[in-house]
Amino acid sequence: MVTAFDTWKCHICGEERPDAKISVLTKPLIINGQVVPGGEQNIRYCNDRPACIEKAKEFSFSKAGDDGKRLLGGQISEQDKNRVD
Ligand SMILES: [Zn+2]
Repeated sequence: MVTAFDTWKCHICGEERPDAKISVLTKPLIINGQVVPGGEQNIRYCNDRPACIEKAKEFSFSKAGDDGKRLLGGQISEQDKNRVD
């Protein structure tokens, strides 16, 4: 069995780090201050860098605005309606 040496990109500092140095923080997805039902975000951060650990707590993908744009208030975007899982 070959052990792959996985690397992950830290969402905070943007560096590729070995798997052992990356932790994942799962947080509810919050858009405009409201929790999106069923939504969650996995934030990867360097577990050996205090700055990344701290910023991961504040970090949110909702600020990027490319995910769940129209989920607020139960509205579903056209894209989501058409999606087949
Ligand atoms: Zn980092």
